[in-house]
Formats: sequence, structure tokens, C-alpha cells
Amino acid sequence: MSDCLFCKIASHEIPADIVYEDDDVIAFEDVNPQLPVHTLIIPKKHYAHIGDEVPEHILGKVFATVGTVAKLKGLEESGYRVVANTGDDGRQTVFHLHVQVLGGARMPIRMGPAD
Ligand SMILES: [Zn+2]
Repeated sequence: MSDCLFCKIASHEIPADIVYEDDDVIAFEDVNPQLPVHTLIIPKKHYAHIGDEVPEHILGKVFATVGTVAKLKGLEESGYRVVANTGDDGRQTVFHLHVQVLGGARMPIRMGPAD
């Protein structure tokens, strides 16, 4: 998709702080980190969200990259959270499937409707 921010990052049209990249996926730092480590993993091909008929091998690749990113960011011992915001209620802001790896500090416990 030509107007998709993450497609432009995947094609290196827009620069990003890249943590990991291979033929199928790219991982890069969130520009507005919510924790000391906040890395996004996306498939290079455009899918709007995790339910957008994404082929299983692509989903597998995205989630397999979580472990790679955790290792590269030094989160293996301390742990981390993996999040895939989906749709409006899920507060998805960029409609290109992305999995977020959050860590480097203890996560807040509270989960529930915000407003
Ligand atoms: Zn896209």
C-alpha cells in the first residue's frame, strides 16, 4: 500500500532504527517508546491487522522474530510483553499488522477499559 507508513519503513523509503530484518519481516524501534524497550515487528508485505487473512507462515515468522528481538534487546532474563493492538477498541494506530515487544521495566498490572 503506497500510503502506508509501515510499508514505507519495510521498503526503506522512510528511515527507521532497525533492530532486525530478513526477507519476510523487519523489526524497528517505536518512535514514541512506552517503555525502555519498545520494538515493533512487522511483515514486509501489507496486512491491515492480525485477522487480515495473514498466511500462517507469515504469522509464524512474525512471532518467531519476537524471540530474536528479545535476545537482541537483552530481555531474555527480565521478561517482556508482546502486544498486537487490533482495530479501534484495541487502539491500533497504524493499520499494518505489527507486534510490539515491550520491556526493560516492569509492566503495569492494570488491564481493562480505559474510558
Ligand atoms: Zn503497510
